[in-house]
Amino acid sequence: MIETSLEATAEARRPSELMNDAVIQLENIHKTYHLGDIDVHALRGVSVNVGRGEYVAIMGPSGSGKSTMMNIIGCLDHPTRGNYLLDGLDVSQASKADLADIRNKKVGFVFQSFNLVSRTSALENVELPMIYAGVRAKERARRAAEALEIVGLKDRMRNLPNQLSGGQQQRVAIARALVNNPAIILADEPTGALDTRTSVELMEVFQTLNAERNMTIILVTHEHDISEYSKRVIVFRDGRIVKDQPMTGRRSAAETLRELPTEEELDAAAAEEMTE
Ligand code: ADP
Repeated sequence: MIETSLEATAEARRPSELMNDAVIQLENIHKTYHLGDIDVHALRGVSVNVGRGEYVAIMGPSGSGKSTMMNIIGCLDHPTRGNYLLDGLDVSQASKADLADIRNKKVGFVFQSFNLVSRTSALENVELPMIYAGVRAKERARRAAEALEIVGLKDRMRNLPNQLSGGQQQRVAIARALVNNPAIILADEPTGALDTRTSVELMEVFQTLNAERNMTIILVTHEHDISEYSKRVIVFRDGRIVKDQPMTGRRSAAETLRELPTEEELDAAAAEEMTE
């Protein structure tokens, strides 16, 4: 009996549970780049926790450390100093090979430039991370189709990237990010190359993934209105977090979309202007 209760206590003390189901735990993270004789302090002691199901926007001026932070969170780079637990795994000391493995299993990336492979179909693009993860062909195709259905592209699976609009290509990238069932999605300026309506449509995809699948999303953006679809905003300056607060007056992308003019309405308005 005593053993059981001791076990239960040990179980209850697992760090990830202590932190209220934190997916990301960063403790006093420093990153210094050495450029010849010069040291560039890109991060100067960043501590932050992100819980499962959070949706965080990271903001801050150019050079404030956002990309460095994302590279560390995404296991693309090691911190110079500090501790990092991702989904309970200590990644600050992991070898390069282990880091690649953790990255493939735990992190889904979405980039501004979509980064799709141009001569392969949407379906094959989404299958790629599963090839690296050693998933069998039949299972790969099934899961890729499912992910494309989630982002609303079921009927475009066979299309090549250049047969898709920018918004559709970014949805393929999100499906690819989702397909290994990652602990977090990291999106770096995902709307940077998209027009207003398409950007909000993408925010709707993120909000739905967050609300219905409890997907943890971390998104870097310099656009204020894009940050307003998140639940929490973290602002960087000079390698430090200077603001970290819940998003008050959070916007619903579905509602914004109902108010925005459609493509046809924009075209009609432009045509009317021409005849005036
Ligand atoms: P942000 O994404 O907010 O623009 P970065 O993380 O890219 O900021 O950069 C933070 C600081 O680190 C800047 O001073 C930048 O010049 C420097 N930096 C970033 N990456 C490197 C690198 N690979 N080598 C040297 N300095 C770098």
